[in-house]
Amino acid sequence: MKITLSAIKADIGSIGGHIKPSNDVFAAVQDYIRSKSKGIFIDYKITYTGDDIAILSTHTGGQLNEKVHRVCWEAFLAGGKVAASQGLYGAKQDLLKQDFKGSVKGMGPAVAELEFEERSAEPFLFFAADKTDPGAFNMPAYLSFCDPMHNAGLLISSKLREGFTFRILDASYTEADRIIELNTPENIYDIAVLLRDTERFFIEGIYSRASGEQVVAVSTTRLRNIAGKYTGKDDPVMLVRTQKDFPGTGEVLSPWSIGAFVAGFMRGSHYGPLMPVKQNSDISFFDGPPIVSAAAYSIHDGKLTEAADAFDHPYWDYIRTQVSRKAEELRRQGFFGPAMLPYSELEYGEIVEVLQELDKRFIIKK
Ligand code: MG
Repeated sequence: MKITLSAIKADIGSIGGHIKPSNDVFAAVQDYIRSKSKGIFIDYKITYTGDDIAILSTHTGGQLNEKVHRVCWEAFLAGGKVAASQGLYGAKQDLLKQDFKGSVKGMGPAVAELEFEERSAEPFLFFAADKTDPGAFNMPAYLSFCDPMHNAGLLISSKLREGFTFRILDASYTEADRIIELNTPENIYDIAVLLRDTERFFIEGIYSRASGEQVVAVSTTRLRNIAGKYTGKDDPVMLVRTQKDFPGTGEVLSPWSIGAFVAGFMRGSHYGPLMPVKQNSDISFFDGPPIVSAAAYSIHDGKLTEAADAFDHPYWDYIRTQVSRKAEELRRQGFFGPAMLPYSELEYGEIVEVLQELDKRFIIKK
């Protein structure tokens, strides 16, 4: 049976600044999906990560399916309306366009979709991040698919040794999707050259070379490219199929223990370590730290099991403490040097006007 997994996530308003959606907003999205998704979804789960609500659905409609995208868009509109009525911060923040034209892609919400013929056992992971952008997935995905230090299957499994194809997007090109495809293992250094630039190059998808099947899908939304100004960080989602011809679930989870520094945090203008958190976790310190949740599911005939919350384990409590230390260390230097994003990443914010004003006051001394 050919199934599509669609993960669609948006910030439509949050309590107390950027902490979490209110119960009423969450319920409005749930109610809308419950009553309107019959005949469209086979199954679905609704969760939140920081101030974002994610709708994970299964269906047979394929990627960019109009009915699927429309029901999610309308659910977010319904939730956004409640957010506005409650005076929540950033009500409808990620709903940047007015007219729905067949898909939410390019309208604000983050979208990641995978279509595949179901295997007899079909496990997958759903990652949702807040207070960061799609480049936050570059390093963990690179390590899980290219590095035997995290993926023992690259040593042991003949299917994994055939390698993977990375589809990488150049987000600096705004007119259309500018894509490059590179193969592992022979191009891993070229892949590294691109993925090290986490603000420009994002992984869009990863494919098995053994079967041609898509293993990974990442949302690549850049809100500033849609809105033309800073409206919030891009808060990505990622779907990863695991086991058999793909990396094992634990091999996909392994690199998240690094708690890598990513762009985001306060005002989307800083670097901070990415903290693996439980599903439905809130935001706190310095509007962060950047967080990521991981829900593991199995699926059969499109029906989802309950989520196994992959970062809800004593091991990750230890990692969270380490990540807090990293956050603390970098925050001690405030806005200086590598604590804050470079000017190129801030140019969609109001700091541009401050710099322009200051620029006029410079004098050239001969
Ligand atoms: Mg958010």
